[in-house]
Amino acid sequence: MNLKDSVRNISGVGEKTEKALDKVNVSTVRDLLYYLPRTYRDLSKVRKLADISLGEMALFCVQVDTDLHTRRVRRGMEITSFEVSDDSLTVNVDIFNQIHVKSYIKKGDTVYLYGKLVYNKNKVSIASPEIYFQKPADPFAPIYPLTAGLKQNMLRKMIKYAISNTSMKEIYSVRFRQQFALPDIKSALLGVHFPRDLEQVKQARARVVFDELLIFCRMIELLNEEKLENNQIVLRILEPDISGFTAKLGFTPTHAQNKVMRDIAADFGKPCYMNRLIQGDVGSGKTVLAFFAMDCLARNGYQSIMMAPTEILAEQHCKTAAALFPEEQIVRVSGAMTAKQRREAKQRIADGSAKIIIGTHALIYGDVEFHNLGLLITDEQHRFGVKQRAAIAGKHDVHSLIMSATPIPRSLALVLYGKTEVSIVDELPPGRKDVKTYMIREPKYRDMIDFIHRELKKGRQAYIVCPLIEESENDDLKSAQEMFAEIGKHYKGIPMALLHGKLKNAQKQEIMKLFAAGETRILVSTTVIEVGINVPNATVMAVQNAERFGLAQLHQLRGRVGRGTEQSYCFLISDNQNAMERLKVMTLTNDGFEIAEKDMQFRGAGDVFGTRQHGQGALVVANLVQDMKQLEKAREVLKRLAQGSEFGAEYENITKAAMELTKQKMMEIALN
Ligand code: ADP
Ligand code: MG
Repeated sequence: MNLKDSVRNISGVGEKTEKALDKVNVSTVRDLLYYLPRTYRDLSKVRKLADISLGEMALFCVQVDTDLHTRRVRRGMEITSFEVSDDSLTVNVDIFNQIHVKSYIKKGDTVYLYGKLVYNKNKVSIASPEIYFQKPADPFAPIYPLTAGLKQNMLRKMIKYAISNTSMKEIYSVRFRQQFALPDIKSALLGVHFPRDLEQVKQARARVVFDELLIFCRMIELLNEEKLENNQIVLRILEPDISGFTAKLGFTPTHAQNKVMRDIAADFGKPCYMNRLIQGDVGSGKTVLAFFAMDCLARNGYQSIMMAPTEILAEQHCKTAAALFPEEQIVRVSGAMTAKQRREAKQRIADGSAKIIIGTHALIYGDVEFHNLGLLITDEQHRFGVKQRAAIAGKHDVHSLIMSATPIPRSLALVLYGKTEVSIVDELPPGRKDVKTYMIREPKYRDMIDFIHRELKKGRQAYIVCPLIEESENDDLKSAQEMFAEIGKHYKGIPMALLHGKLKNAQKQEIMKLFAAGETRILVSTTVIEVGINVPNATVMAVQNAERFGLAQLHQLRGRVGRGTEQSYCFLISDNQNAMERLKVMTLTNDGFEIAEKDMQFRGAGDVFGTRQHGQGALVVANLVQDMKQLEKAREVLKRLAQGSEFGAEYENITKAAMELTKQKMMEIALN
């Protein structure tokens, strides 16, 4: 078998398993080999029952002392119990719903159990242990992330088969591997899936991660070289006017905003295209910075595009623009326009009278003809399809500004964005209060509702967000409406509206308008409200099933409140025990940088940057935060390789591998 072969070549993989694997982005043998365990079960030592504290996972060798006895607790729940002992202790074993254990375990048998001791109804017991009839052969069992249709044992078998039956080419010479203390690729894969001990996992994983990071860094280098070549023709933007622009604002810019405007002005003075990322927490006031850049362009006769991720946001930007630019300069391109409106908009863009072009990706799907286009701004880009942005950026040589509310550590930004300059808006407009954030579990739900009632009585408004992920599905539409009805029961007589992705744009806008005007008091919504909406009178954000959201996303949601002078509140409703630790981060800080960093630790960087959702991220095994040291090492090694002829073959192999990843993938990371 070859790495590029489909998983169907692996013995035992049929259509069903193929589909299940596809859900975790595994379609080739290579993908499977790099589907790494999330942890390992330590089966290397047999422990005494009496030596283990409650809750600790361990392997025991026990004798079955009683017959197995099954009782039905309720419909769909049957528990089979028996007693076991080693020479230190007797404990109870409970097995849920697997009545067939009776057919293979009998009183008097000796078995190995892997599980943890719990204290239940005055008895020490082991709940649902893994059962082995002999001492497990592998000292460490890999535990993989699962999805419906995948089981640990299946994955172990498939991966074992794949490792022994795939021809793998080693891309490094022995000397190179010695120099950087790397095991060969086959031992690395074996070590990472079926280790002898945890030390081996460390070394094996280091190799796999290092490979990926080397190729990743090389890929970004290649992309940047390409960008440099493009940098010959330049649009000169003269005389940026910071004070003239800020005089038009209804407020005094913060120091941070002033600094970024100076950064932008300085960029325009350089003989190359601006390529700047503005990172600033939600509410830090990034929008006016974009308009400042557009103002510079307009004064020089150039057009600028501002791409927003949603129609609602585009509409809001248009309103902001109306206070800053002459009306005839502003044009909006929307997916919801009639043919006639669209024709008019296109005409004003083509003849150059429109300088401030605002829209969503409808802008690039059309055949819009620009006239002196000089700047492309993408707002809230983490929500924006990277491919869409690439589509426009690739077509025109223009200055580029990206605004992001997903902050990433500076060192990481340098790697990810390569030559892109980074400005940080690390200051909120004056008078903002931190949003008080609470986790709400079932017993407190009622209190929360009463609390929200009190806020509404004070004249404030509330958002209630429901997590419907794939809004294209009709089922979800139904559940949004059900959820709406359910929530409505608690707020009788209060004007409420439901906002979801299936509504027509005009309907969405109408709903938002009524909420912004204060006529609707509660806005129940799916995540369409996530980005950019600005209603200062809203002081409550309640998030249902908060565990389904990433921290960065919750931070975005929370950013919808706390925009006025009143104290605001955020409630994260969840009964999911596993999510508590993660959600707790939100109650401890309002700092988007801190949250983003934590989020990356919990979920891996690919998810946070949204590359995963656009297909497979370029990084499968490496985690840019946890493997930061390795990342730095990879960059150093690359530098060395680029300089000398020492490891020419390796350098070539790495470059080839980097180029082999599709252009699409390169775009995804470099632009995201
Ligand atoms: P974000 O960075 O999340 O895009 P916005 O640009 O939408 O934030 O700004 C949030 C709100 O803060 C807007 O209503 C904007 O008018 C206001 N704002 C921005 N800068 C300032 C400032 N320096 N002083 C007061 N209000 C400001
Ligand atoms: Mg914004």
